[in-house]
This record gives sequence, C-alpha cells and structure tokens, in this order.
Amino acid sequence: MIKTQGFAALTAKDTLAPFSFERREPGPQDVQIDIEYCGVCHSDLHTARDEWHMTQYPCVPGHEIVGRVVAVGAEVTGFKVGDLAGVGCMVGSCKHCASCNEGLEQYCENGFVGTYNGPLFGGENTFGGYSDKIVVRQDFVLHIAPGQNLAAVAPLLCAGITTYSPLKHWKVGPGQKVGIVGLGGLGHMGVKIAHAMGAHVVLFTTSPGKTEDALRLGADEVVVSRNADEMARHANSFDFILNTVAAPHNLDAFTGLLNRDGTMTLVGAPAEAHPSPNVFNLIFKRRTISGSLIGGIAETQEMLDFCAEHGIVSDIEIIAMQDINEAYERMLKGDVKYRFVIDIASLKK
Ligand code: NAP
Ligand code: ZN
Repeated sequence: MIKTQGFAALTAKDTLAPFSFERREPGPQDVQIDIEYCGVCHSDLHTARDEWHMTQYPCVPGHEIVGRVVAVGAEVTGFKVGDLAGVGCMVGSCKHCASCNEGLEQYCENGFVGTYNGPLFGGENTFGGYSDKIVVRQDFVLHIAPGQNLAAVAPLLCAGITTYSPLKHWKVGPGQKVGIVGLGGLGHMGVKIAHAMGAHVVLFTTSPGKTEDALRLGADEVVVSRNADEMARHANSFDFILNTVAAPHNLDAFTGLLNRDGTMTLVGAPAEAHPSPNVFNLIFKRRTISGSLIGGIAETQEMLDFCAEHGIVSDIEIIAMQDINEAYERMLKGDVKYRFVIDIASLKK
C-alpha cells in the first residue's frame, strides 16, 4: 500500500485537519500520480459539511487534480512516467450501461465512482485530491497539454467541464445571447468558455464589485441581479442561461429573461430547495428549466484541449493546505477570485 498524506473532515462539524491513509498499489490498468495542485470546489464544502446528506467520513475532498505520473501498470498505454495528468470528479463507472456506452459516465446507470465520497449509490469510500498522491484507472485520467500554468489548469477538471458540457449540449455559439448567473468558480469559467464559443455573454451577479472583472473575463454585459430595472431590460431575450448559484433563490427572475423555447440549465446544487418556479412563466413561452452534471471523460479531454487552444485557464488564488478552512469561510462570503487552488507541496510543511 502507498502511504498518503492529506486533509480530511472526520465529521460534518469538524474543520479539515491532517489525515494519513493508504492508497492501493497501482494495478495493471492504474496510473499513480503525485498531486501538485488541487482546486477547491463549492461541492467540496457541501460534502465536507454533509449538506447533501450523503457524506461518508472521513471525507478527503478534492476533484480538480493535476500532477505528474510517477508509476503506471503493465497494461497502461496512454500514460508514461513523467507525463502531466489530471483527474476530475470521477474515478470509475460501470462502462457497460447505455450512458457509459455514449461516453456519459457521469450519468452511469449503475452510479459512477466519485473521486471522493465513494460510489454514487454506496460502497467503499474514496479519498480525493486534498492529498499528495492518487491512483486512478487509466480511462479516468486526463492528459494536460504542457506549457500551461498548471495550478490554473486544475479548476478546469470540475468548474471547466461543468460549464463546458451544458454550453456545448445546448449548442451555444455565435449569434446567441447567453446568460451566466453567479461569478464564482463555475461562473467565471462559464463566462470565459461561452465567450470563446462566440456567444454574446451577459453575466448576472449579486456583487456589483465584480463588474469590471466580469468584463475583463469575457462578458459583454454585466447585470446586477438584485436591480429589478436592470433585469427588466433583458426580458424575453436570452437563448440560454447557465445558473451556477450555490444558494436557493427565485428562479422566475431568470426564466422571465428567456426567449420562446429558451432554456435555463441549473448546475448550482444548493443544499436547500429553490422556491418553486412559476409554471405560467414556462408554459407561455415553452421555456425549459434543466440540470446538468459535470461531463463525460472524453468530453473533459475535449474541454481541456479546447481551453489549451484558446488560452483559457482559471483565475486563481493559491493557498496552502493549512488554509483550507479559512478558504471555505471566504467562499461562503463570495470572497474568492475566482478559484482557490491548493499547493499540495504545502502538505510537507
Ligand atoms: P462558488 O465559487 O462559491 O460560486 C457561487 C457563486 O454564486 C458566488 O460566487 C455568487 O456569485 C453566487 N451567489 C449568489 N448568491 C449566493 C448565495 N446566497 N450564496 C452563495 N453564492 C451565491 O461555487 P462554485 O464552486 O462555482 O459552485 C457553484 C455550485 O455548483 C455549488 O452548489 C456546487 O456544489 C455546484 N456544482 C455543481 C456541479 C454539477 O456537476 N452540476 C459541479 C460542480 C459544482 P455572485 O457574487 O456573482 O452573485
Ligand atoms: Zn466540483
């Protein structure tokens, strides 16, 4: 077994603290990675605090992992020692259901295996990227193009794919007016990617102080969503809205901005339910509210390649592992520009 150092929450009430555990020795299909950086997703916080009521403890969060390959199993063909490698939100799925066969492992009908918190439908716990090493089967490991800022690539593994996948699925592109709701980790990647896809991008924020940043990141317009007059100016005008907000809020304020047949996709996953949407708002213009979960493995590689080609990385603040609890508090206050990334070397301090 491989001795691994990390940080874990031992119960929902605990802050994260140093935690030692063991990883399996790499099997024939496995890639062993020395983790260099791990992004901090709001889902890590939801999970560490059991806000979704399905956390297995100890909980070692982290699913925005980048590092270097240090060992490969005998049957590994895609990776060699020294390669850069990434791991996102999944480390396994059944690979034979209809969804897996379509490359949609995130919707695996038998439940994918999360990088942390174990199989979706129960089973042995898994430990994520708030740690110095990970062993993952090769078909769930991603290639990272060299020459990029590695720390700033890490958040693409969740925030990048979670925004890329729905933008692609709903065919966002030139000539379309697209809204992104919330300028956090997911939202700022949504702005960059939708802009790169050629859409006219409008960022909705509750934080007027983020306006200049949003324009710099690629938004064409910024709307302060608490300002009813500003919102009213955009009624019935959006082809697509991607909602990344991590807290319950009135969805009608946004569905009313969609044009006929427009869709708002929710990727934000608040612990408490949103107030029920007004059905008349949907019926009278055949509008849709939908959801979307991360993205498949092939699509994640496609997104990484798209971002490398377009020079897109995350805007980050690097933190030491020991600062994670303070980082969670700042994330809850919306005080992050725009993703915390843990320098895993700090674990050795
Ligand atoms: P984040 O960095 O904390 O960003 C969330 C943003 O939501 C905030 O920056 C804020 O933007 C906005 N917001 C507005 N009102 C808020 C409130 N009352 N409380 C908190 N935020 C508020 O979070 P994230 O990492 O981007 O994750 C966002 C959500 O997506 C989380 O619920 C996370 O679990 C979920 N998620 C889902 C998937 C998926 O596959 N569907 C994948 C990853 C994460 P403004 O200041 O601009 O208003
Ligand atoms: Zn995430």
